[in-house]
Amino acid sequence: MNIILMGPPGCGKGTQARRLQDKFGMIQLSTGDMLRAAVDAGTEMGLKARTVMDRGDLVPDDVVVGIVLDRIQDIDVQTRGFILDGFPRTVVQAQKLDEVLIEKQIGINYIIEMKVDEATLFERIEKRAAEMADGARVDDNTETLKKRIVVYREQTAPILPYYARAGRLDTIDGMASINDVTMQLEAVLGNPAT
Ligand code: AMP
Repeated sequence: MNIILMGPPGCGKGTQARRLQDKFGMIQLSTGDMLRAAVDAGTEMGLKARTVMDRGDLVPDDVVVGIVLDRIQDIDVQTRGFILDGFPRTVVQAQKLDEVLIEKQIGINYIIEMKVDEATLFERIEKRAAEMADGARVDDNTETLKKRIVVYREQTAPILPYYARAGRLDTIDGMASINDVTMQLEAVLGNPAT
């Protein structure tokens, strides 16, 4: 089963993607994690990405598209399926993804938006930033996280009508508790037996 999980930064997408991975066995593909790994490894791409990530902006489409579309075609991902977490983040990324999926005859079973009220999101981000004040993640500070919400609104949210028009979008309430959101996701996925 292949899934795209959409939702603004701080909505708990990563947590839910990991839960789905653990329960259903698909592989979580987080472009944020991949980029942070490149930053930690000190690769040339990582060094360039770091400045952009620190600002809360998006890494250029061609960089992200390259890493994620390569990974999608790996045999383990093909066999187990994937959960895209944090990709696509622009309409161009969504179009490139569609091109590769069509070319490689890979289907997406569900595209799910975790809808969150923006004010609540700001509150969560303040809390999360405080919890991560030890600098555990290079790009976590309150201003950066707030910037990301604006970037989501301006550059990522326009993907949603693109998918909705094609009748491909399921929307769930991302404001609910973590467990409740998991249950809503499982309901969309038809809650297959474990
Ligand atoms: P995340 O962990 O998904 O919140 O991503 C952390 C940061 O990595 C983002 O704020 C962006 O700077 C960068 N990033 C992650 N995914 C993408 C993407 N699909 N396109 C562009 N930049 C991305």
